[in-house]
Amino acid sequence: MCRATLQNSNFYRLLLRIDQGLAEQTRAQRCRCGGVLHSARYPRKPRGIPREALPDCDFRYSFCCAGCRRRTTPVSVRFLGRRVYVAAIMVTVCASRASAGTAAAMRQLDSLDVPVSTIARWRRWWRTEFMTTPLWLLGRSDFMPPVEPDLLPASLLERFVTTLQHSPLMGLLRWLTPLTSGSAASNLREVR
Ligand SMILES: [Zn+2]
Repeated sequence: MCRATLQNSNFYRLLLRIDQGLAEQTRAQRCRCGGVLHSARYPRKPRGIPREALPDCDFRYSFCCAGCRRRTTPVSVRFLGRRVYVAAIMVTVCASRASAGTAAAMRQLDSLDVPVSTIARWRRWWRTEFMTTPLWLLGRSDFMPPVEPDLLPASLLERFVTTLQHSPLMGLLRWLTPLTSGSAASNLREVR
């Protein structure tokens, strides 16, 4: 379904530009202590993206305070937590499964080589952890008629089709950004 998008390096370039803007906002706001933030990026090795897009996704913006040394990691449209796959792949693969896509669409997504166990874990996250987040608990009332929880994230993705965003996927990735920055510790390691 969004596979063409996932293989388009311009898409990742655009995501990087958005993250750049989000990082600049974070830096301008300074540390909670008022200290100046210095760049302290996390290297990333995301899987599943086209080779030419790797330079646009091989780091996550993060800052370290010059005063108290505390980490501040901006929200991101590229990375949803510590997962080694970019958020776009996680959302697209789960949306396709949830909406019972065609066999052809499934085979195309299969070419991304995401392990079945990883997909199962992602889908569980949508049904459990995601539903306990303030973003969902408070944000779901913005959608009328209500988003069908059993069909997440496909049911959310389709709500962004009519917006003026670059693509439905881009719209959803922006909407999800409040979930993308945990504590500094949770961003230190990558997990599958
Ligand atoms: Zn500080």
